[in-house]
Amino acid sequence: MAGHSAGTEIERLIQLLARLPGLGPRSARRAALQLLSKKETLMRPLADAIADAADQVLTCKICGNLDTQDPCAICADTRRDAGVICVVEQVADLWALERAGANAGRYHVLGGTLSALDGIGPDDLNIAGLLDRTQGGDVREVVLALNATVDGQATAHYITDQLAGTDIKISQVAHGVPVGGELDYLDDGTLAAAMKARRPF
Ligand SMILES: [Zn+2]
Repeated sequence: MAGHSAGTEIERLIQLLARLPGLGPRSARRAALQLLSKKETLMRPLADAIADAADQVLTCKICGNLDTQDPCAICADTRRDAGVICVVEQVADLWALERAGANAGRYHVLGGTLSALDGIGPDDLNIAGLLDRTQGGDVREVVLALNATVDGQATAHYITDQLAGTDIKISQVAHGVPVGGELDYLDDGTLAAAMKARRPF
């Protein structure tokens, strides 16, 4: 029977850290050691921050953003243009566009892209929520800020088809990056320029 040795706790910590993006087993071990050697100044504050975030962060029911309030601060901000919805794949993309100050409108997070290969269909994404938001007549423009991947573009086409026959203008951000480039990796200036240079889809 495995006892509750210190080794078990450390192993569990390493295994969980290794599940974070960009951290393999090797860097997870280094991170665990760093945490353990800075227990009071790093490990406990981090543990508290993780627990607080787990308790307090919500998914915005309107746009899918993560915030401590629902609707999120962006959806609740009446100074932002409710007539423009910028559609992104992930919250990371929304945050990248916000950092760049590239969008004065609202957002909609799909939660991924359509993918025949991975069996991801429209019902697996927050597309119905987007179509709902475009029903009220307040939305003038939908800006597709999806990654320049095959799946991202298939998703852009699908959404465009769904909005056909409405008065809503559909545009797409100009990427200017190689196919497969992801929004989150673009620098702020490039993102702002891509948003400004959006063209009809
Ligand atoms: Zn929101």
